[in-house]
Amino acid sequence: MTPRVAKLGLDLKTLAPGFHRRRFQTRHVGFIAWIWRGGPGPVLLLNGATHGDEYEGPTLLRTWAASWRPAQLRGTVIMVPVLNEAAFLAGQRVHPVDHGNLARAFPGKARGPVTSRLAYLFDTQLLAQATHYVDLHSGGAAYALLPWVGYLTRNDAIGRKQRAMAACFDEFWCWSGPFLPGRTLSAAHARNIPAIYVECQGAGGIDPNDLAALDRGLNNLLQGVGCLDGPHPTFRRQKTRTSNDAQEAHLQAHHPAPHDGLFVPAVELGTRVRKGSILGAVHALGDSRLSPVKAERNGRVVLVRRQRSVRKGDALFTLAPV
Ligand SMILES: [Zn+2]
Repeated sequence: MTPRVAKLGLDLKTLAPGFHRRRFQTRHVGFIAWIWRGGPGPVLLLNGATHGDEYEGPTLLRTWAASWRPAQLRGTVIMVPVLNEAAFLAGQRVHPVDHGNLARAFPGKARGPVTSRLAYLFDTQLLAQATHYVDLHSGGAAYALLPWVGYLTRNDAIGRKQRAMAACFDEFWCWSGPFLPGRTLSAAHARNIPAIYVECQGAGGIDPNDLAALDRGLNNLLQGVGCLDGPHPTFRRQKTRTSNDAQEAHLQAHHPAPHDGLFVPAVELGTRVRKGSILGAVHALGDSRLSPVKAERNGRVVLVRRQRSVRKGDALFTLAPV
């Protein structure tokens, strides 16, 4: 059944209590939202597949949409399992038409390129109405990550709310960092909406442990933000890291491939390494050249490239001091 198309500018508070499906679309971009309306209260917005090759978020949110019918819901919960439909259907990180990275396109423009229009549609139609926001990511097809939850650091009441939201995902470690432009979280930041993102392992598939950890986190969060009543959940102790340098948590910036070729990693995800140690190598295709990749710092391998073919400049590893 095709969901009804929402009138642009739909005030979610005008929807009757209960469960709704709506398609938001304009100018050849769109997405489907699953909306649970309860009484007055918080408006929690979650989405998956900001990047099209990340499947944990869509899988979790689809499962909830199929079965979750709470008897006592306070406020509104909105889930967009697949935000970037064209990228998702193409099985790739970026949009197949303009090759735009949706996580760099926010807040977007009403009449910009297709990725910019999609960002604008989400920002103005849903994010603008949210009181809390969660963006579900993963390593996608090309990378494997040591799962974490994160947010943009700020020293105010919103920062404290973000910390509390992140603590709900207590099976992941927590990484906060400075403002970076273009992200969904930057758009939430501009609107003073507490927002977190979650990064699951990825590696082209779904680790069932990640799904279970996400599910637990979402249950905790619904109670934590006040959408559901229940005994206050008890959280596991979470390892945390606050980065003051924006580059530290910029995943595309570290250990770039020195040239095109075949990448052979020598360390596993989660390994602790020392600065200067060999992490792997890139073999050139046309000659016997082999370029070792050495650790830029002491730290733990929190990202490793899984796709073995690399172009010059592709990020191969990220190390974090956790
Ligand atoms: Zn992503």
